[in-house]
Amino acid sequence: MQIFHTIKGLREALIQARQKGLRIGFVPTMGNLHQAHIELIKRAQQTSDVVVCSIFVNGLQFGLNEDWDKYPRTFDADCAKLRDAGCDMLFHPDDNEMYPNGLDSQTRVICSTMTDVLCGASRPGHFEGVTTVVTKLFNIVQPDEAIFGIKDYQQLAVIRRMVEDLCVPIDIIEAPIHREPDGLAMSSRNGYITAEERPKANQLHQSLNWIAEQIKSGKRDFLALEAKAKQQIEAAGFKTDYITVCNSKTLEMAAVDDKHITVLGAMYTESARLIDNVSLS
Ligand code: AMP
Repeated sequence: MQIFHTIKGLREALIQARQKGLRIGFVPTMGNLHQAHIELIKRAQQTSDVVVCSIFVNGLQFGLNEDWDKYPRTFDADCAKLRDAGCDMLFHPDDNEMYPNGLDSQTRVICSTMTDVLCGASRPGHFEGVTTVVTKLFNIVQPDEAIFGIKDYQQLAVIRRMVEDLCVPIDIIEAPIHREPDGLAMSSRNGYITAEERPKANQLHQSLNWIAEQIKSGKRDFLALEAKAKQQIEAAGFKTDYITVCNSKTLEMAAVDDKHITVLGAMYTESARLIDNVSLS
């Protein structure tokens, strides 16, 4: 695997790949890689000749009181996992390479829909940071396709919308949620969960599934289902951020006759904020 820390170095290597007519697949990450990330690499390998992974803990998408400082940075272990998976190129820039003019004066990409609800409501500015860094990474790598996990459902929806609105010539491919055996969605932030909390940390998944089952069995009082799910989460000792039954495409609160519904949720453990979702069609 070739490792690049500069935009220039990566671009030179990619020009050669492009000249050979190779299809380039891209998997952006923040590192601390786990099996779900590796599944994205494998998905990229199915339809691309050259797979590029990026590792960059993007300060622009973290709030001031969030975990940018303590976000786990495990570069050597990440490289070993990517090599094992047969990843071709890794882009690992530092902050200065990505934001040479500083964060405050960085030109931003703003998606004006779907970004101030759900995770956007509790993380103001988060999606602006995501769309800005993803646009920069897209311009640096210029891939044919980019793979994103459905686990970050709202992020995927926002990126799809941005790509559509800005005519970005990149296929956006979604990969299913990869879970631990007890249903907990894999996440780099799962490392923050204490041993005491861990046995119950799949409660978010269980409550979202419970809502999905209720809807499948004909229940349509979404607010009542959300309220009950919140009670389940509190009873397990966690704090709910939000549980919302949404229209899968618009991420607005679902209407009773919506055919495509996604139930999204976020909850706080003592020191982690976990997200998850389940879709029904
Ligand atoms: P992150 O490193 O957390 O920013 O995630 C990088 C990519 O991996 C994003 O597209 C995420 O949606 C995806 N991802 C992270 N965890 C999972 C998971 N458990 N299942 C599927 N995709 C995931």
